[in-house]
Amino acid sequence: MMTMAEQDTALTDVLVVGAGFAGLYMLHRLRGLGFSATVLEAGDGVGGTWYWNRYPGARCDSESYYYSYSFDEALQQEWEWTERYPEQPEILRYLNHVADRFGLRRDIRFDRRVTDAVFDHDADTWVLHTDGGERYAARFLVTAVGCLSSANIPRIPGLETFGGGWFHTGRWPHEGVDFSGLRVGVVGTGSTGIQAIPVIAEHAGHLTVFQRTANYSIPARNGPMEPGFQREVKQNYDAIRRKQRASTNGHPFDVSERPALSVPEEERRAVYAAAWLRGGLRFRAAFADLLTDKDANDTAAEFIRNKIRETVLDPVTAERLLPRDHPFATKRPPIDTDYFETYNREDVTLVDVRESPIVEATSTGLRTSSAEYPLDCLVFATGFDALTGPLLDIDIRGAGGRALRDVWADGPRTYLGLQVAGFPNLFTITGPGSPSVLTNMPTAIEQHVDWIAECLNHLRSRGLTRIETTDAAAEAWGAHVNSAAHRTLLPMAESSWYLGANVPGKPRVFMPYAGGLAAYARHCDEVAAAGYVGFALTPAL
Ligand code: NAP
Repeated sequence: MMTMAEQDTALTDVLVVGAGFAGLYMLHRLRGLGFSATVLEAGDGVGGTWYWNRYPGARCDSESYYYSYSFDEALQQEWEWTERYPEQPEILRYLNHVADRFGLRRDIRFDRRVTDAVFDHDADTWVLHTDGGERYAARFLVTAVGCLSSANIPRIPGLETFGGGWFHTGRWPHEGVDFSGLRVGVVGTGSTGIQAIPVIAEHAGHLTVFQRTANYSIPARNGPMEPGFQREVKQNYDAIRRKQRASTNGHPFDVSERPALSVPEEERRAVYAAAWLRGGLRFRAAFADLLTDKDANDTAAEFIRNKIRETVLDPVTAERLLPRDHPFATKRPPIDTDYFETYNREDVTLVDVRESPIVEATSTGLRTSSAEYPLDCLVFATGFDALTGPLLDIDIRGAGGRALRDVWADGPRTYLGLQVAGFPNLFTITGPGSPSVLTNMPTAIEQHVDWIAECLNHLRSRGLTRIETTDAAAEAWGAHVNSAAHRTLLPMAESSWYLGANVPGKPRVFMPYAGGLAAYARHCDEVAAAGYVGFALTPAL
C-alpha cells in the first residue's frame, strides 16, 4: 500500500518555497523540463523582496536594464524600464508581468507560509506544512526564500509600551504610512535607512536618525531611462548578459585593472571624482584592488569621508557620519539620493547610539543612555537575519529527523551554497556559501536555478530519486568559502550582516562566497560535468 507521501509524490515532483525572482524562474524552468511543480508563497502576491519592502524610497541599487531576467529574449526586449534605478513598485510590476506572461500563477499557492519541512526517508519525499495547516509533499524541495527576508527587529525593552506606530522596513504596510507632521525616529543607517531617511525627512514633522555605525554611501545619480540608451541596451543584450555572467559580481561594468596606489595621488583623486559624478556601485570598480588591499581601500574611504565633510554643514554631525570602523565596500555599499544632504535640514537630528545606546522604548518615544527622544512613530531599518534566517524560520528536518537549526548551530555549512549534508533532495537557491548577496541577484539566481533544473533533469533521466551532498564535500567547500573571504578585506567589517554580526547571538561565520560569480559558476559546471562530484546519487528504492 502507498504511504500518503508516495501518493503526493505522484502529484508533484518539486515544491518551491517563495515566489520572488528565484521562485518564479525556478517554476518556469521546471515546467519547461516537464516537471510538475508547486510554489508556496507567504505573501498574497509575487515579488519576494519587492513585495515586502515597500518602505519610502525603496529602490534597487543595480541598474534596471540588468537587474532583470535574461532567460527570455522577448521579455527583455518588450519590457521598458523608466528609471536608471528602478523603484520598488516598478520591479513589482515587472515581476507581476513575468508571472502573467509565463502563466505562472496557476501553480503558485499564495498566503501559505511554510512552517515545517520534513524529509521522509523511506519515500524519498519532502513533506511540508503551512501555517494554515495544509500539507504538501514532493520528491524535491527547492527553497527560493531570499537572502534578506527574515526581519531583524531589535529587542528594545519596553517596545510594547510605545504609544506610536512602529514598522520594520521589510514588512511595510501596503497602504503606506502617512508621516505628515509626525516626529519620526529611524533606527538604522544601512542601504535601507539611507534610502528611506531623505524621503521620510521630506514628509515628517521632525526626523531623528538613530545611527549605530556610520556608513559609506555613493550618490546613485538616478534619472529617467533615456530612450536612446534603452534602445542601445536592447540591441546589445547578448553582450551585456555575457559580461554579467563572466564578471565577479554580476554587474556588466569593467573593473579597472590598475592598483589604486600605482597612479599619482592627483590622478587617483580625479578617477574617484569622475566615479563619484557617475555614481552607483560602479564606484567600487575605480581601481582593481579596493577590496583586496587595505592601503588602496584607504584612499577610496578617505575620498568619501572628504565628500561627507564637504556636504554636511554642521561639523559635529559630519564627524558622526564619517565611517571609520570598516573599509569601504566591506559591507554592501549603499547608494543614495541626498542622504548626507538631509542632515543639513533643520528638522533632522542625528543621534549616535554607539556613543549613547538605546536603553528602552517608553510610551512616548526612545530613551538612550544620555537623553529621551519624544516620537510619534518608529521605523526600524535594522536589516535582516540574512541568508540563514529565512531557512531557519522553517523547521527543516532532514534524514533521521535532524533539525537544520541544530546542524547549523555553529553557522551554516553547505556544498556550493546549494545543498546541506543530511538533507537529501533539498536545494537552497542563493544559500549561504553561494555568491548570492555579493552579486547582482537576478544573475546569481538564474545561474543557480539553471544548475538545479539541469541536475533534476539528470537525476530523472537516470532513474535516480535521491541526491545528497556529503559531509566531506561540505567541509571542503566551507574551507574554500572561508579562504575566498580572507583573500579580500570583507571580513574586516565586524558589524556586517555578511558575518551574521547584526543579529545578537548569531554565530560569526562569513556566509557568502567571495570568490566571484564567474569562478563559482565554472566550478558548479565542473561538478555537474564530472557526474555531480561531492554528491551521492541514489536510484529509486
Ligand atoms: P543592514 O545593512 O543590516 O543595516 C541595518 C542598520 O540597522 C545598520 O545601520 C545597523 O547598525 C542598524 N541596526 C541593527 N540593529 C540595531 C540596533 N539594535 N540598534 C541600532 N541600530 C541597529 O540592513 P539594510 O539596510 O536593510 O540592508 C540590508 C541589505 O539589503 C543591504 O546590504 C543590501 O544588500 C540590501 N538592500 C538593497 C537595497 C537596494 O538594492 N538599493 C536597498 C536596501 C537593502 P550596524 O551596522 O551597527 O549593525
